[in-house]
Amino acid sequence: MTQVTPDLSSVAGRVLLPADPGYDEHSQAHQLAVRQRPAAVVDATSVDDLRAVLAAARASGLTVATQALGHGASEDLEGSILVRLGAFDRIEVDEAAATAVVGAGVTAGALTTRLAGTDLVPAVGTSPDVSLVPLVLAGGHGWIARQVGLSAQTVRRVELLRPDGEHGWVDDTSDPDLMRVLRGAGGVVGIVTAVEVDLLRAPALTGGTATFPAEAGAATWRALRDAPLPDSLNVFVSSVRMPDVPFLPEEVRGRDWFAVQALSVDGDLSALDPGVTAGATASAFAPMDASGIAGLTNDPREPGASTGVSALLTELPDEAIEQLLAWHASDAGRAAVLLGARRLGGALDDPRRGSVVDVSGARWLLSIIAPLPPGADPVAVRGAVSHALEILRPWTVPGLPPTFLGSHQGLADAVSAEAIDLIRSTRARLGADVIRATRL
Ligand SMILES: Cc1cc2nc3c(=O)[nH]c(=O)nc-3n(C[C@H](O)[C@H](O)[C@H](O)COP(=O)(O)OP(=O)(O)OC[C@H]3O[C@@H](n4cnc5c(N)ncnc54)[C@H](O)[C@@H]3O)c2cc1C
Repeated sequence: MTQVTPDLSSVAGRVLLPADPGYDEHSQAHQLAVRQRPAAVVDATSVDDLRAVLAAARASGLTVATQALGHGASEDLEGSILVRLGAFDRIEVDEAAATAVVGAGVTAGALTTRLAGTDLVPAVGTSPDVSLVPLVLAGGHGWIARQVGLSAQTVRRVELLRPDGEHGWVDDTSDPDLMRVLRGAGGVVGIVTAVEVDLLRAPALTGGTATFPAEAGAATWRALRDAPLPDSLNVFVSSVRMPDVPFLPEEVRGRDWFAVQALSVDGDLSALDPGVTAGATASAFAPMDASGIAGLTNDPREPGASTGVSALLTELPDEAIEQLLAWHASDAGRAAVLLGARRLGGALDDPRRGSVVDVSGARWLLSIIAPLPPGADPVAVRGAVSHALEILRPWTVPGLPPTFLGSHQGLADAVSAEAIDLIRSTRARLGADVIRATRL
């Protein structure tokens, strides 16, 4: 396809067009399953750069796609200018107020590192490498979700460049409908340059992992399901089946295991002991500050190609756990390297702020990740792992945090029809047709 060449001559930051050296590497996202071919890649250094990008896109009939590192990349971006905001890297922490202003280029890991030595915790997810702004704009389920709700619920206000070039803060008083959209579908109404978020005060933060033989998975998961978890405790379970491939380290290659990861904000992990952790082969829980969160799971750090499916569950009876883990142990299930589930409830049932995303009433967030080796057909692999969702069909409820959408899904798979109407009308009100929104 012949692409239009936008006039980006007034942009101060780096601009790469398809014929320029470095374009191929720089247009690539962290998610390697997608080959991005935007009309240009811009490293914006200022709001004026962003305004110039919006004007150039309009003048040449293109749209603007904003991306941090592209962990969530799902399409080729043909017909768009890709903007990266790595230069928007401010972190301003107000320790007394337990809030932080966080720029669009700040990763979760940079924020938790900045908070080392304090008793403050941000609503980050498992990967230190994803950026906080896209996480909160698309709902986000993080380590302190049972205390604060979805990560979007911690957003106090948003610094937004509107499609008409106006730049400034928006909050629940100035525009509650826009804030509802920004807390869940935020990437579709403008370019966010920063957010101000609540931090949770947690002086006795304690976390870690207990590891079990794969065969102990069903009993462990049942015990965890039945344990009286206090709202101060967050738990994730993982069934891991590592392929026997040469690029994996010797200690994990070809191995299967089950793990329980937990983070308590008040140091009370007694609900796990002894019923849940009794059969663990290794168990290490320790006091930590926010900087310890990065090490709680071993999320892959290198760019890679993967696909996956997720679902919200109302309950998890014995038969669901047993069938799921039996599927994961089968030849077909081995396509999935990780079958993970996060315990919901607590503050997730009682959202304090307006948002298009709502997971109240759901009890588990299930996600299944399958790597895509070179030559693999993503549709076939996704079809294979989708079998797990068939097993769970009786206990599945509609909705997802949009950060858990697969590349094949749209916002309508995550939010209600009423929310989709609000997102569309807000886009129309702001004149946001220049902002790429393929998932809508
Ligand atoms: C290893 C791994 C672990 C993960 N763990 C979790 C987890 O625990 N919880 C969770 O909820 N999610 C999790 N995710 C999903 C992750 O939150 C999404 O992939 C998200 O897209 C963040 O990735 P990114 O920072 O690279 O953002 P990108 O993929 O670069 O951006 C995603 C989208 O956000 C929008 N966007 C980005 N920046 C802006 C901006 N400045 N203004 C307006 N719109 C913008 C755009 O629409 C863009 O397409 C994980 C992903 C991976 C790969």
